[in-house]
Amino acid sequence: MSAQSFLFMVFSNLPALEKRFRLTGNGSEYTLRPIAVPVPNESLTLNGLLCTPAHRSGYYHDTVYTKERIVLHFTAGGLSGDMSTLTRQDYHVSVPFVIARDGTIYQLFSAKFWSGNLGGDALGNAANNQDKRTIGIEISNYGPLTPKPDGLQTIYGDTYCTLTQPDAFQKIPAPFRGQSNYATFTDEQYDSLIVLLRYLTTQYGIPRQFIPEPKRYLTTPDVLTFKGIVSHINYRASGKWDLGPAFNWSRVLTGVKAAAFTPKQSRDFELIEGPVLTSEEAMIPLLPQARSAAWEDEPYNDTEVRPVDVPEAVSESTQSGVIININK
Ligand SMILES: [Zn+2]
Repeated sequence: MSAQSFLFMVFSNLPALEKRFRLTGNGSEYTLRPIAVPVPNESLTLNGLLCTPAHRSGYYHDTVYTKERIVLHFTAGGLSGDMSTLTRQDYHVSVPFVIARDGTIYQLFSAKFWSGNLGGDALGNAANNQDKRTIGIEISNYGPLTPKPDGLQTIYGDTYCTLTQPDAFQKIPAPFRGQSNYATFTDEQYDSLIVLLRYLTTQYGIPRQFIPEPKRYLTTPDVLTFKGIVSHINYRASGKWDLGPAFNWSRVLTGVKAAAFTPKQSRDFELIEGPVLTSEEAMIPLLPQARSAAWEDEPYNDTEVRPVDVPEAVSESTQSGVIININK
């Protein structure tokens, strides 16, 4: 492999792309405001950035339903593509939280509101009933990778990494839904996810429990009565890979169930100007317009066109969109 082709591998470019997003709002596409919300009853703070698109709205509903469970996802992409997919104009496919690989938690709307995070054909989701009662968290991650002669390829056909970059991918002992190689998550993502789950479980009265191991990787009607933390695959029998065994479940379980938790890094955002938001209520007046409640029972298809992250060295004119149905 030449040095030049290495430069264009997706994995190597992710830190620079995420840094640009965090420091510039992806070139002013988004307004970023620091948040520091206390986790109730703990000496722990949920630090992150409220992220609102400057020119798009209607990607969530501001109606309020009792939350029964939290659904974990990976995005099957990189941060800027993830965020544009999750903030499409008047299209209710989104989640309140996205966790970047650098550990930054981006909040798109209050978790007491909702958007489509499960897909129209998810178990029990007629009239979007499960979307309304779940809180979705997206972890930025490219997901399944396909072995090719020059490395591992993303679902978009780009080379993600070489086979000699063990920090970039994980090969699991037995295939999960036909895929054996998956992009890794970062320590910062695990730490931020644990803090976020501790906040949401207390704030929304959701038990700190996970679907037990034998059913953790299965699509099961149990998910419809379970109160706690689940993942997208529990709701979707096909077309989704988030989250399977290529994820450190025991680390997250341990961190969420522990009496106390201290992330290795404290994340502050002193580079972002503006008053610090210390509650989700304080964010609500700053959110773009919600989509009309008249549309909230509307069926939807999560097959969608999404832009693909490309290295900054590649000119914008070469950016392309691809149609897939496994994102989110
Ligand atoms: Zn998902």
